Amino acid sequence: MFSFFKTQVLHPVLDLIFPKYCIACDQLIPSESGFLCLSCSYTLPYTDMEKMEENAAQMRMLTKLPARYAASLLYFVEEGKVREMLHRLKYQNRPEIGVYLGRLIAQKFARQAWFNTIDAIIPVPLHAAKQARRGYNQSECIAEGIAEYIRKPVLSKAVRRIKNTESQTDKNRKERIDNVADAFELRKPEQIKDKHILLLDDVLTTGATLASCGSSILSGTSCSLSVATVAIAYR
Ligand SMILES: [Zn+2]
Repeated sequence: MFSFFKTQVLHPVLDLIFPKYCIACDQLIPSESGFLCLSCSYTLPYTDMEKMEENAAQMRMLTKLPARYAASLLYFVEEGKVREMLHRLKYQNRPEIGVYLGRLIAQKFARQAWFNTIDAIIPVPLHAAKQARRGYNQSECIAEGIAEYIRKPVLSKAVRRIKNTESQTDKNRKERIDNVADAFELRKPEQIKDKHILLLDDVLTTGATLASCGSSILSGTSCSLSVATVAIAYR
């Protein structure tokens, strides 16, 4: 009886009062849906990199950071669904989208042996000024989604961003590397020692930011790193 009430009466009323939209295509979706419309949830551009011996994310990190493993969940395409989701997460005050994307990473990667040896997650930190402006660090939200699934801690205070770097989007490869060099400082090496850390960011572009953050960790203590991002962009 109650389930009839929920689906036939309550949900249509909720749809009217709190309309819900797909985070990837902005279509109106039923209130009981998650974050995506059916069509988007079946057509997200998964990379399947987490299963591959060699993949594009690993190749991109290879010369910059000695990571045990690297994988991105989705392909980032300009004007595409993934860009829409990440844009809402970063610029429209939707931290819950990050938690959702983190859960997607964990559900997908959980079948892989390398992922099951992760001891803790470090989201790439934002500079304090930027985080204050945005209200949250989107990578930390993604990390929370993974952590809740694999029951490992998020060490968001372990590394600090000491340089408020300019946006990377209009920079070439060399400029990007210079821009983020020495941008991070390991604060709590004791939290990380001898652990397998998952270093996490929203998008992998050149890998310069992840490499700079990862290098500050590896130079400060003995541990191993793997890298995960929600998306990988073409350069
Ligand atoms: Zn959609």
